[in-house]
Amino acid sequence: MSTPPLSPDALKALVRTVPDFPEPGIQFRDITTLIGDGDGLASSIHHLAELARAKGAQKIAGMEARGFIFGAAVAVQLGIGFVPVRKPGKLPVKTIGIDYALEYGTDRLEIDPAAVAQGERVVMVDDLIATGGTAIASAKLLREAGAAIEDALFVIDLPDLGGADRLCAAGVNVCALMDFEGD
Ligand code: AMP
Repeated sequence: MSTPPLSPDALKALVRTVPDFPEPGIQFRDITTLIGDGDGLASSIHHLAELARAKGAQKIAGMEARGFIFGAAVAVQLGIGFVPVRKPGKLPVKTIGIDYALEYGTDRLEIDPAAVAQGERVVMVDDLIATGGTAIASAKLLREAGAAIEDALFVIDLPDLGGADRLCAAGVNVCALMDFEGD
């Protein structure tokens, strides 16, 4: 990594915006270009790990799939464990799951309930918060398993979509390295 790490503004410049993906009108904030840059990836992890350390994280939970990239690297940096929040049917054990609403239809997330200890301070990490549906469902699921969920970290916030406000209302503090206007 470059010394000092890249600033959040420099990281923002590495995110590629793809208009009209996956649907017309959506500005897709693509982290492929950010993680494809060695300094960009390392600096993103550095900043997220410092936030997670300050929050007293005892474990990191990451949401499939892009939350795995950032979350697992943050966990390694802090020397703590990682909990994958998975799409349905992927885990080979008895899981607990939660269905949640998408703009069109529903989706489901599952975890291994044995992956967190009672009262363990688990910090959630994902690439981006939009409506907050994924993060709120993940927080509910991890809490059901016994985790203390007070903080969530994102590379990107889309504040106009209100997800960070909804997650705060659910009792989870939100930090993001950068935000983009609009959706
Ligand atoms: P949400 O549940 O609405 O907060 O959406 C969360 C997930 O959808 C994130 O983990 C992103 O991977 C993806 N996502 C939603 N909107 C966008 C967008 N505009 N650009 C890139 N990814 C997005």
